[in-house]
Amino acid sequence: MSKELIEVSGLVFKQKKYKDFDVLSKIMTAENGIFTLLIKGGLKPKSRLLPATINFSYGNYLINTNYCGLSVLRNYKVVHQLEHIYFDFKGNAYANYLLDLVDHAYADYQPLGKNYYLVFNALMKINEGIDNEIICQMVELKLLSAFGTMPEFRHCVFCDASQGIFDFSLQLGGIVCKNHFGSANTRMCLDAKTMGLIRTLALIDIQQLGQINISDNLKQQSRKFIDILYGQYLDLHLKTKKYLKEVL
Ligand SMILES: [Zn+2]
Repeated sequence: MSKELIEVSGLVFKQKKYKDFDVLSKIMTAENGIFTLLIKGGLKPKSRLLPATINFSYGNYLINTNYCGLSVLRNYKVVHQLEHIYFDFKGNAYANYLLDLVDHAYADYQPLGKNYYLVFNALMKINEGIDNEIICQMVELKLLSAFGTMPEFRHCVFCDASQGIFDFSLQLGGIVCKNHFGSANTRMCLDAKTMGLIRTLALIDIQQLGQINISDNLKQQSRKFIDILYGQYLDLHLKTKKYLKEVL
């Protein structure tokens, strides 16, 4: 297939030096998923493509692509930077982890659908200084489906109950209502508050997330749950996750 020139809207991450002054960056796009961009001469001090090489730049990019392997950056239109994330090491660690996660969930050039907006909005919120940890947990829960695992958080795995007290069963892959606690051979014995927070994060749209005022203890409980879920269902060993744990 011959290369064509297209315009994509996206966000640049995982920048690394390539040959001479050239740079390779990943770009997460609304239209064509995640792929690698070759930015020729990006490291030259006077490069007009310089703004596009900075991690966490986002905007509209003109690229040459044949939808496999490397695509080549030709030009960009309006480009902005997520400055808070760029300079704040914790925000940076969270952003790198979430982008790494979505990068592992999809093949190159595979459209991300609504998960593009999920991750993009999550980064915007982290950049605004909104609770990094809660944003991160929300994205982790919602991205499970992209890895082909979708625990049932909406209603009890035995009945239609969607309100009241719930627990979670790893074996059954979903929530269990109080009336069916006896039917689940194993359950995690999560407290109702933790389960409530996890369900909220899994089910509401990220745009609906307003002011966040959640105690550290509760956040740690939901964090434990998500780590167990990821450990049980997926085989991911991301360096960005290890680094995030180190800096917190
Ligand atoms: Zn039930």
